[in-house]
Amino acid sequence: NTPLHELDPDVAAAVDAELHRQQSTLEMIASENFAPVAVMEAQGTVLTNKYAEGYPGRRYYGGCEHVDVAEQIAIDRVKELFGAEYANVQPHSGASANQAALFAIAQPGDTILGLDLAHGGHLTHGMRLNFSGKQFNVVAYHVDEAGLVDMAEVERLAKENSPKVIIAGWSAYPRQLDFAEFRRIADEVGAKLWVDMAHFAGLVAAGLHPNPVPYADVVTSTTHKTLGGPRGGIILARNKDFAKKLNSAVFPGFQGGPLEHVIAAKAVSFKVAASEEFKERQERTLDGARILAERLVQDDAKAVGVGVASGGTDVHLVLVDLRDSELDGQQAEDRLHEVGITVNRNAVPNDPRPPMVTSGLRIGTPALATRGFDADDFREVADVIAEALKPGFDAEALKARVTALADKHPLYPGLK
Ligand code: PLP
Repeated sequence: NTPLHELDPDVAAAVDAELHRQQSTLEMIASENFAPVAVMEAQGTVLTNKYAEGYPGRRYYGGCEHVDVAEQIAIDRVKELFGAEYANVQPHSGASANQAALFAIAQPGDTILGLDLAHGGHLTHGMRLNFSGKQFNVVAYHVDEAGLVDMAEVERLAKENSPKVIIAGWSAYPRQLDFAEFRRIADEVGAKLWVDMAHFAGLVAAGLHPNPVPYADVVTSTTHKTLGGPRGGIILARNKDFAKKLNSAVFPGFQGGPLEHVIAAKAVSFKVAASEEFKERQERTLDGARILAERLVQDDAKAVGVGVASGGTDVHLVLVDLRDSELDGQQAEDRLHEVGITVNRNAVPNDPRPPMVTSGLRIGTPALATRGFDADDFREVADVIAEALKPGFDAEALKARVTALADKHPLYPGLK
């Protein structure tokens, strides 16, 4: 029972350094968040020791009576949170959830229709090197000139290719999708509709974004992005039509023993996500993104070639368009890193620069909203970002402003 710091000072030092990094810088990677201490506590429990292949009440191992309780709580809470009749909380990650979901509703070789990765889609929606791209026949739709998903193209491609599955969901898209329209098109061509709400699940839980569950045959999500829980995945469905196929695709299809400690942590995060405090946090998340988008379309930003894809946002992220800027995505990411703001470079639609460089930044507000940032704080962050993207920026002065914001909203004050 030797504590980590004594048993393994090398690993402990890396963990300590990461805690310090999270506390002292501003985390604006759109897919990241800060899990509550209680969530991390649940994840660090003896549940990590337990094998529990199967599902609550039907396990292939003895001694599952207590993990059954935790897993059932997770299932019940997430069904309630999203109005789903079916839930599977075992996927180890978003990609695992997506793999199981796709194999439950389609066969290798079938045609799938998803948003192009270069236009904001995810790897698991048909990228060439991913399982989805290797084992399925992929047709991709795109965003239009205005930066909005081109529903006319979705309909045309659906009619031309008769996909087995239409995928609605994104990793880098600043707007809401029209789930009813996706459903209509799917019905028209006899396709299944799979919505991947990994990015915006927290907004849905708070009632600040349309809920895809009533429209889709299957909905997948991560639990660690806007939802603010432990790193992991879930699968939901509005009814039990695919319950057997989905369950058996997760186990024994792709996974063995579930991570019951993570599932317990998911349960805790679903309780948090049902609270008023969570809703208020998601409101600040949206306000922050809107404030950032408004700042980055002002004249001084325009003058240095900085713009905002689709002209704004109605979610938790802004896709900064640097196609007219002298800075490429890599340089802009490095600049913000220099002043203490962490973001990721990201291709924008019709990006002329190569994927390792890109002409964009994806900037999200969930982690800072969790940290307590309000509209005034986000105005200050937005101004620091706008200034940092100008030539002749004053790195030291901007870093001092970042440090002041970090100090104003201490993160994990009880942790050392
Ligand atoms: N789906 C979407 C839309 C995502 O953005 C991501 C992660 O970025 C995933 C799935 C995959 O999640 P994970 O990284 O947990 O496998």
